[in-house]
Amino acid sequence: MNYDFHHVHDRNIPDEERARLSSRFAGPIEAFFVRHIRWLPWIHAVMFVVFVTLILVPPFLPDPAETDGPLDHLSVFSNFAIWGLWFPLLLLSVLATGRSWCGILCPMGAASEYASKHGMRLTPPRWLTWPGTPVLSFLVVTILGQTAGVRTHPEASAEIFGGTMAAAIVLGWLFAPGKRPWCRHACPIGLLLGVFNRLGVVEFTPKRPEPGGDRWNDKTACPTMIDLKRKTESRHCIECFRCVSPQASGGLYLRLRRPGEEVEQIAGRNPNISEILFLFLGGGVALGGFLWGVMPLFNTVRDALGLWAIENDVTWLLHSGPSWLMSVHPERREVFLWLDFVMIAGFMAMTMAVFTAGLSALTLAAAWLSGKLGGGRSLWQRFLELGYQFTPIAMVSLVIGLGGGLFKSMTVIGIPAELVSLLKIGLFAGSVTWSLWLAWRILVRQGVTGAKVLPALVPGLIGTVAVALAWWPALF
Ligand code: SF4
Ligand code: SF4
Repeated sequence: MNYDFHHVHDRNIPDEERARLSSRFAGPIEAFFVRHIRWLPWIHAVMFVVFVTLILVPPFLPDPAETDGPLDHLSVFSNFAIWGLWFPLLLLSVLATGRSWCGILCPMGAASEYASKHGMRLTPPRWLTWPGTPVLSFLVVTILGQTAGVRTHPEASAEIFGGTMAAAIVLGWLFAPGKRPWCRHACPIGLLLGVFNRLGVVEFTPKRPEPGGDRWNDKTACPTMIDLKRKTESRHCIECFRCVSPQASGGLYLRLRRPGEEVEQIAGRNPNISEILFLFLGGGVALGGFLWGVMPLFNTVRDALGLWAIENDVTWLLHSGPSWLMSVHPERREVFLWLDFVMIAGFMAMTMAVFTAGLSALTLAAAWLSGKLGGGRSLWQRFLELGYQFTPIAMVSLVIGLGGGLFKSMTVIGIPAELVSLLKIGLFAGSVTWSLWLAWRILVRQGVTGAKVLPALVPGLIGTVAVALAWWPALF
């Protein structure tokens, strides 16, 4: 048993190395943000106006003509800006700039914090701090987004994003003085960005770290309530720069690192089941949300269920439901029945269950093999660590599957469709390779060395390739 704890997380980075890293690249970036942080409220105000214009105004406008483009009608522009640009670029930006969206631009997080400064200051209840809350919130928002048609109808977009904004403000107003309880405990986007942030090159590291591991602490200066001196994980850090003071001997400093470094060192970076659940459940539900629209089998089963409802007089299935729950837009020739709601939600839940069961079994197999081949720690710990190997493939799946608007707009501006397909295939191939690399690094740190790593890599490879194949229809 010779697993490598020394490299799990190098908490005591020598001063010279810190100075070298900071001074060359990170230093100027750090100094720039610290100098200009006072402009943040203005940026938030502008973003709030952009949010209202793009999300809350379009439902009150007449529908665009079929030939209208983004520059002809605000609704078309809003749809393009959100799904063609914001969503895919937000996911990709995490690799280069971490959660800069959250700390610098997001109007929802900012509104939550402003509300929190003037609110009730109650202690967050246990249902809110429960680690499963953001996972649940992600699942509910993703399924509701599909049934209400968030990527097609401005009303659904206003409901989902407006509802998220309202929840952020209410939770901020109720709980934690001057902090962002919504961002830390419940935001589905924050969860997504947090997990992928572990792959990114930006990290804020304590200058004088204390042992004990990460924990939640609402008495710190950090808006997402990170116990700053004990910080080892990046997922909750929204890059607000409030803990950074270049001249001070304490606080945190900005460090640029190798992509994926934190996942390689995951054993010492607070691995936890809520993120693994998100990768498996969230990845599965997103896949279901994409597949139901492209799989002929879905329509076959829907027709069979409809026929069964008619023959058995189950009439409620053949009626339309409330428009906040499902797409009811006769003027756009789209009216969902309860039948559609049940089918879409059921299909997504089923895909999620199969996806989660498959990836869990494969990760368990890898963790078991790791133990047999020299890996240290408990089976559960090895399972948690190896679950993170799927982070790159999950990220690329979401970019390509749900951020398809970006690739569509590439073809609209004249990039050949074959080239766009090649780009998607390249992204998938890259993420499969990266996932495999991460699995290898995690296994080595568990103590599996030399050629013994190869058999333990096989279950993860099967899982990664299976995920890529499941998203195959999104490639073309
Ligand atoms: S966690 Fe959510 S609400 Fe908070 S800043 Fe990030 S995206 Fe915005
Ligand atoms: S760790 Fe620092 S930069 Fe990150 S969110 Fe907390 S205060 Fe902001």
